Amino acid sequence: MAADEVLGALASSPRGLASTEASERLARHGPNRLPQGKQRSAFVRFLAQFHNLLIYVLLAAGIMAAAIGHGPDAIVIFGVVLLNAVIGYVQEGRAERALDAIRRMIDPRASVMRDGRRMTVPAEDVVPGDIVILEPGDRVPADLRLISARNLKADEAAITGESVPVDKTVDPVEQDAPLGDRFSMAFSGTFVAAGHGMGVVTETGAATELGRISSMIGAVEQLTTPLVRQMNAFARQITIAVLGVSALVFAYAVLVRSYTLDEGFMAVVGLAVAAIPEGLPAVMTIALAVGVQRMARRRAIIRRLPAVETLGSVSIICSDKTGTLTRNEMTVKSVFTGEGAVTVSGAGYEPVGDFERGGKLIDPPADAVLPQLARAGLLCNDAHLTQKDETWTVDGDPMEGALVCFARKAGLDAADLRETSKRLDEIPFDARHRYMATLHKDEGAAPVVYVKGAPERILAMCDKVAGADSEPYDASIWHERIEQLAAQGQRVIAIACRTLPEGARTLRSPDVERGLTLLGLVGLIDPPRKEAMAAVAECRAAGIRVKMITGDHKATALAIAGQLGLAEHPEVITGQELDALEAEDFDARAQAATVFARASPEHKLRLVEALQADGSVIAMTGDGVNDAPALKRADVGVAMGDKGTEAAKEAAEMVLTDDNFASIVAAVREGRTVYDNLTKVIAWTLPTNGGEAFTIILAILFGLTLPVTPVQILWINMVTAVALGLTLAFEPTEPNAMSRPARPPGQGLISRRLLWRILFVSALMVAGGFGLYAWANERGLPVEEGRTMVVNAIVAMEIFYLFSVRYVHGPSTTWQGVLGTRAVLIGVAVVVLAQLAFTYIPFMQTLFDSRPLAVSDLAIITAIGVALLLIVEIEKRVAARLMPIRKPKWMRRYGRPRPPRG
Ligand code: ADP
Ligand code: MG
Repeated sequence: MAADEVLGALASSPRGLASTEASERLARHGPNRLPQGKQRSAFVRFLAQFHNLLIYVLLAAGIMAAAIGHGPDAIVIFGVVLLNAVIGYVQEGRAERALDAIRRMIDPRASVMRDGRRMTVPAEDVVPGDIVILEPGDRVPADLRLISARNLKADEAAITGESVPVDKTVDPVEQDAPLGDRFSMAFSGTFVAAGHGMGVVTETGAATELGRISSMIGAVEQLTTPLVRQMNAFARQITIAVLGVSALVFAYAVLVRSYTLDEGFMAVVGLAVAAIPEGLPAVMTIALAVGVQRMARRRAIIRRLPAVETLGSVSIICSDKTGTLTRNEMTVKSVFTGEGAVTVSGAGYEPVGDFERGGKLIDPPADAVLPQLARAGLLCNDAHLTQKDETWTVDGDPMEGALVCFARKAGLDAADLRETSKRLDEIPFDARHRYMATLHKDEGAAPVVYVKGAPERILAMCDKVAGADSEPYDASIWHERIEQLAAQGQRVIAIACRTLPEGARTLRSPDVERGLTLLGLVGLIDPPRKEAMAAVAECRAAGIRVKMITGDHKATALAIAGQLGLAEHPEVITGQELDALEAEDFDARAQAATVFARASPEHKLRLVEALQADGSVIAMTGDGVNDAPALKRADVGVAMGDKGTEAAKEAAEMVLTDDNFASIVAAVREGRTVYDNLTKVIAWTLPTNGGEAFTIILAILFGLTLPVTPVQILWINMVTAVALGLTLAFEPTEPNAMSRPARPPGQGLISRRLLWRILFVSALMVAGGFGLYAWANERGLPVEEGRTMVVNAIVAMEIFYLFSVRYVHGPSTTWQGVLGTRAVLIGVAVVVLAQLAFTYIPFMQTLFDSRPLAVSDLAIITAIGVALLLIVEIEKRVAARLMPIRKPKWMRRYGRPRPPRG
């Protein structure tokens, strides 16, 4: 069908639907989204909590205990399992809901025409008949019949698997053309690779081609990362090892120590329960989810969970300049025409300001070139200024907004002029050719093309200068002027024009790439973001290098890099210089340079690869469709949520909702925190399990009475694993998180140091427990009372050890360390109450065979906990001396970056 026919059939027009009609259609057709994949029911999710080798072992032990008549023990075992499942279920549900909500924050949006105006709506609200505007990097929101297309190319890999972008046109195709040959259609889920176009929506939601091939969106992402998988595998290995050891211990107990089968079995059940870290996987998952939520609060949305981990080991951040490191609030400050330099006053986008030349105010409309320059800047431009209660904002590109503002300061009426000098054709801005051109025709005048862009580009296309008859065109003079403006950190744009022969209605690049008349240069300021400066300083202290990649001029970029404090003496290299390098020099230069100017998206990919060559972990920002390959290649691709294209977001691991460099650094800081917290969870869980297990093993080996009974071990596990272990998932960032080098990538969770710590603390716990038990025997206390003391002592040691673990990298014996976080204090309070109940409530005494203790004994138990804390603190200091954290390779090579001044 011809485009017009399709429009007719859908009762639409190029002006778009009326918004009332659109909402009616939305009610009729339903939201434009694919049906959700089948959600697991609550019951199935609950059952899934039991699907775990560790839990199977416990369940088997419980059933056996019940079978041989140990009712109370069986009840306690099932209690542990149930509690574990309930907590896992609740926490996992909460985490999944939170992550869903976070993901919805970056739901795709679409540009549509409604009521004759262009607007952005959630892609879900697009209805049949809507006119959708397509630009490079857009994700096509629904199936569209194109009604206009200019150099439009679509990446249809999502639908046809074809990876080469397909040219799109408006011409009808054969009725039975296969999907890949329907050049007049743009399909939902594909991306605009290049060019511009418009289309009318034919189908939405499940009725689209995408909906047909995938009747549901991908399954819910698993809450897991490489480290967590590694830990799960480790936990499974522990379980299997524990089963083996238990069998041996059982045989030994029965054969050598002549335990009855029954006693021997219960002893090894206690052993197994003590040693199996059943809560570990759940707590680690929660620690991850907490990290993702904290990052979202800092405006960094994680799209792929493993990025949470990778962020913690980022060693180089490659960032765009404009809008990420700078505010992207541009103001024209200076102008250079054939008549000389002019400075412009005013702030922000409010169109009031004066023009001064040589210290004297001038009247712009009376000037020879200024009106023409302002007019060109206004017409070769897609931005609008709007005023909302006193403040002026830009709708569109901020630099173009600044030019509109400039034109109004120069006395032009923007709306009026854009109406009378209609745009006939255009060559849109593209980071590759770095200019934009538009063709206009006024009544009774010849067609004119206005061109604006990167000054070197424009100067090369010019052969005369407007206005000044006296000054012949000399590119070298103009290059000096550019350097002058750029050295002050101004972004420089050149503007030129050319009259075309009567009858010209379309623009081709040859028309604009020669024979232009230079109207002048415009210098714009775009101040660095304050928080970016602080973030750069933080990075330097954390051993993270920041590199700036920009399409801007060398001198401008260097000046901004200086203002940001990127490096002591930032080295700059341009895209052109990079291209001229031999492959082997490329890596070295890429490593050394801080600023990459006049770089195009293609350079980004090569840069990432070069920087990764020595094992650095790279975060790379991007916004355009051409940035997608570099984002994919980087260890952490970071897309801009605000000005970024859907293609960039799709390729990225993380999306910034505020496009701000400081948010990347905040995410890195949270990434380091997550990693620390995972380590803490392990550093706490394994020694406590180890301490309990070895206590039982030793007792059996030496034929002693067990200092704790199996049910008591279960009790300890049930109470402390949840109330204490879980709190570590919520630990805040340690004070020095950003003043130590990045964690080397690929380093497992269990380092040499951690392994030593696990053994050391296990041994301390065994010693504490046995020592106390022996002392109680010595005093002639009954076995039951001795055991009650041991149970309390183990719990006390776990509590005090928790405080020690909270600070991996520093001492815990500080006020902050003692007062801790709320989660920790609540956890400790719960455990203390539970222990009092265990010791003093008659019902508990029957169930666990416990006895009330004297207050003096409680004091001794507390002292044992304190002693453990002190010993571990001393160990921490000694170990830090003996086993220092290794610096990453590049840091040893370059030396530690000096912390920034001030
Ligand atoms: P950045 O990396 O700083 O965002 P860009 O790639 O967007 O740089 O722009 C590179 C250069 O292209 C700018 O320095 C400017 O000279 C020119 N330029 C940018 N935007 C436009 C535009 N809308 N029209 C014409 N020229 C532009
Ligand atoms: Mg830009």
